[in-house]
Amino acid sequence: MAIKGTDIVKKLPEAGKKNCRECGLPTCFAFAMKLAAGGIELNKCPYLSEEVKAELEDALSPPIRLVKVGTGNKALEVGDEQVLYRHEKTFIHPPGISVLIDDTEPEHIIDEKITGLKQMQFNWVGKLLRADMLAVRYKSGDRHRFESLLKRVISSGEFPVVIISEDDEVMLAAYKIYADLRPLIYPVTEHNIEKIISEVKKKPIPVGVRAGSVEALAPLTLHLKEHGVEDIFLDPGSNDLQSAVRDQTLLRRSAIKHGFRPLGYPTIAFPCFMTDDRHRQILLAATYIIKYAGIIVLDYLDENSLLPLLVQRMNVYTDPRIPMSMEEKIYPINNPDDNSPVLITTNWALTYFLVSSEIENSKVPSWLCVKETGGLGVLTAWAAGKFNGDTIAPFIKKCDIESKVNHRRLIIPGRVARIRHELSEALPEWEIIVGPGDANEIPAYLPELIINWKK
Ligand code: SF4
Repeated sequence: MAIKGTDIVKKLPEAGKKNCRECGLPTCFAFAMKLAAGGIELNKCPYLSEEVKAELEDALSPPIRLVKVGTGNKALEVGDEQVLYRHEKTFIHPPGISVLIDDTEPEHIIDEKITGLKQMQFNWVGKLLRADMLAVRYKSGDRHRFESLLKRVISSGEFPVVIISEDDEVMLAAYKIYADLRPLIYPVTEHNIEKIISEVKKKPIPVGVRAGSVEALAPLTLHLKEHGVEDIFLDPGSNDLQSAVRDQTLLRRSAIKHGFRPLGYPTIAFPCFMTDDRHRQILLAATYIIKYAGIIVLDYLDENSLLPLLVQRMNVYTDPRIPMSMEEKIYPINNPDDNSPVLITTNWALTYFLVSSEIENSKVPSWLCVKETGGLGVLTAWAAGKFNGDTIAPFIKKCDIESKVNHRRLIIPGRVARIRHELSEALPEWEIIVGPGDANEIPAYLPELIINWKK
């Protein structure tokens, strides 16, 4: 639970009555309120004792720790979640989706998994969607085999890696070689925790803690934290759908509603170990996306299973307070030239997606001008005064469409036919044409329009 400004002020110098203004604010109370809202740094007040600083730092840190696996621009960051339900504010860091590679698998399957995961990328409503990680498991009993597989996966440089081994020696040997790349090692259990701590505390990296229940995780994480190992993923050992939902919910509630720090870490989930049925694994993964997992490891992914998971994840992890939107610019579709028709629409991602797909379907080379409207659809943007003659005319002038076409015909959405007159006045050199009311009429409309223009 986040600490309130009224609680912070009691801990400030002279119980919040010093009011010296050195932090740049008029009173200690103002500083406390701003600190609680995340608007100022703790060290702006020079009079805090080390003890109070540590206490406030702890109280102000996110209820679920942000943990990073990997390095560079491919690193995965999860955690730092603030709410139990998405509609309360937003979920912040989408779970990493990972494929498991066993070192017992035949070469062609390993190849397929590594190259397949690299290649499976999808452009979806202006965003690039892809899986995030590879998990490599020691299962063969042949250390050389495992090490060469791990080397191969890591040297591909494409994905952060989860190293899975029930043999502590093998796990720690991998840690010693690759610690600088911050892989996640798994599992840390009550049986191997001392051994793992004795090595990993020298250069802490993310660790996955496995226990038989939610309750059994807390002493392990406390022990790790005491030794400076704080980048932790939790695995409560859920083995079916029901326990998965129960355990994830308990963990999230403990951290966010009760501020219980020992469980304030992201989780790791293994549909790949819960069932051999690949369809069930996908269903489990879909549940884990909704129910709070930080990393989800599956046995296998193809385009038909990955894309729905990625789209679901994107939808759950977009901020409900901010409509998904496209960049304001001209989008060429079907290789247009200077004779191609020019259409205009708003920048709500769904509107763009529907209109651009239907233009593509029409096979007519076209220019689509997308006007910034704060991510609103056509009618809403018009009602909000963001899509009318006064706003479209300056956009048409500045977006440079006039240098791309040798005609001056602009097709507006049929739903806002009423702006035709005002737009004609604002853009006197342009002929304003009222297009279809629904995007699905575009494939029939555009070819006919071209025939008429040619006549
Ligand atoms: Fe209060 Fe510290 Fe700000 Fe001074 S610097 S007003 S003591 S919070």
